[in-house]
Amino acid sequence: MSGGRLCITGGTVVDPVAGTATLADVLIEDGRVAAVGAPGTVAGDAPSLDARGCLVTPGLIDIHVHLREPGQEYKETVATGVQAALAGGFTSVACMANTNPVNDSGAVTQFILDRAKVAAGARVYPIGAVSVGLAGERLAEIGEMHRAGIVGVSDDGRPVMDAGLMRRALEYTRLFDIPVIVHEEDCGLGGGGCMNEGTTALRLGLRGIPAAAEEVMVARDVALAELTGGRLHIAHLSTAGSVAMVRDAKARGLRVTAEASPHHLFLTEEAVASYDTNAKMAPPLRSRADVDALRKGLADGTIDCIATDHAPHHVDEKDVEFEHAANGIVGLETALPLALRLVTEGVLDLPTLVARMTIGPAHILDLPAGTLTPGAPADVTIVDPERRWKVSARSFRSKGRNTPFEGWDMVGRAVAVVVGGKVVHEEERQVTAALRSAS
Ligand SMILES: [Zn+2]
Repeated sequence: MSGGRLCITGGTVVDPVAGTATLADVLIEDGRVAAVGAPGTVAGDAPSLDARGCLVTPGLIDIHVHLREPGQEYKETVATGVQAALAGGFTSVACMANTNPVNDSGAVTQFILDRAKVAAGARVYPIGAVSVGLAGERLAEIGEMHRAGIVGVSDDGRPVMDAGLMRRALEYTRLFDIPVIVHEEDCGLGGGGCMNEGTTALRLGLRGIPAAAEEVMVARDVALAELTGGRLHIAHLSTAGSVAMVRDAKARGLRVTAEASPHHLFLTEEAVASYDTNAKMAPPLRSRADVDALRKGLADGTIDCIATDHAPHHVDEKDVEFEHAANGIVGLETALPLALRLVTEGVLDLPTLVARMTIGPAHILDLPAGTLTPGAPADVTIVDPERRWKVSARSFRSKGRNTPFEGWDMVGRAVAVVVGGKVVHEEERQVTAALRSAS
């Protein structure tokens, strides 16, 4: 993607590596960052993109999305998922393998990459299945998928219950130096549950899933990471106990990384009290103490990144009794303002937050992204941190409308997105411009 020259001028450039936020211009040449310098010093005669009043960050990365294609295009397609990503400020997404057919072969990986090329916007990185058909019985064609372009393997949506298979996955992926991404849920402990186990579940008369359903699997897989030397990435951490185990594993030098989703950072099991099926997800929303532990883990680096687990469903799959509703919510278009709220709430500072959405996830999957260092691909997100808006699922670019954040007042929004030096998304900025001239 060559985009000639472009200079993003007058914004506050957030550098997640240096941990700084300073007024600067970003010059882009031939799809790469050419220079970052004090305002007015690097632009030359390049066309400019006005970023005054905005934050300029490396393009945001979401390493956990479900794009539903092939097979469930009524929920989402690669094209609509890419549009949702751009609207949310994401320039790169990694998509899970639980499509139909499952992404367990090089042919399906190639199909997804071809769809992404046609969609032309955000970069799409397929994740292959650990096991054939996600059946948890024998390893998928990981080598073949790796040649086709996968960046990791996961049976996400399902746990890998067979510890022997998990061991082989961690051993075999060492050949390609890619992570095994795990959805930690012991089916025997979690089976039949639909929300967090505890007094709220008792009160609501719903069957619970104990924190231990996740934690026994985290403990097992940390042990297997130690045994094999493989790379383990734990998806959507949800309990305080899991955070403690990941912290300990990292302290011991194991190759273990973890993510947390915006919903697990903002909502508790109380959201289920109205039987709102948009509060149903796997792992379930947990307790206030769990939310606090996740936030602490995100701030201190135990949790490497925020990932949305964007999971679009058709309204009919959510418009049923709580027990029978599909798991998951859409996340791409609400993640950024929620993440910014963590800064205003004092959980972590802005450069650290940006790191958890750029360089952090880039490192987990070894993506060539997440930094504005000269020479890096010119993927940039321009954020108006003052922009006020109200969540309305009807206006999502995603086909999914399943959000628990409907009606929330948000502050902050991506107003322009640059991928490979090209402006691929730009929002109307009149309101903000008017506010600025009035102030
Ligand atoms: Zn999952």
